[in-house]
Amino acid sequence: MSPCAACKLLRRRCAKDCVFAPYFPPDEPQKFANVHKVFGASNVNKMLQDLPVEARGDAVSSMVYEADARVRDPVYGCVGAISSLQQQVANLQTQLAVANAEIVCIRMHQSQPVPNQHPHHMDDGNQMVTSSCSSPPLTPSSPDLNHHMKPSVGGGYESLEFSEPLWSHN
Ligand SMILES: [Zn+2]
Repeated sequence: MSPCAACKLLRRRCAKDCVFAPYFPPDEPQKFANVHKVFGASNVNKMLQDLPVEARGDAVSSMVYEADARVRDPVYGCVGAISSLQQQVANLQTQLAVANAEIVCIRMHQSQPVPNQHPHHMDDGNQMVTSSCSSPPLTPSSPDLNHHMKPSVGGGYESLEFSEPLWSHN
């Protein structure tokens, strides 16, 4: 029986009750190498001993993930990945809020009857949309909003082209 990856790297005999053996098989030497480099084998040993057996697998996965991230990014480790993902979430939430506000705005205008007696009123269509829709939260995306809301011949507005984004981010 070959020693586990941990005992192989530490050059010690792999006992039958080796705490590392279930989680660091000999065919994945890099898995333990990074964990050892970042946390230290004796700390990993202590952490695993303190945990109930059923929680050790998750703890090892977490430590392997953190150690790999720390080796790739020595300054931020997995915090770099987490904060980048959080930034993406915040940006997408902002985009979603703007899109929802635009939808509300468009629905409001679609439900308003457009008077047909004055054909020249159509010229004011965009102006009307701009004046009531560019309240402060919508200001950054208003230019594209007008582009997508062309007054149609029969009054009202043509349906939106959803194949293109309503605004461009960055
Ligand atoms: Zn071992």
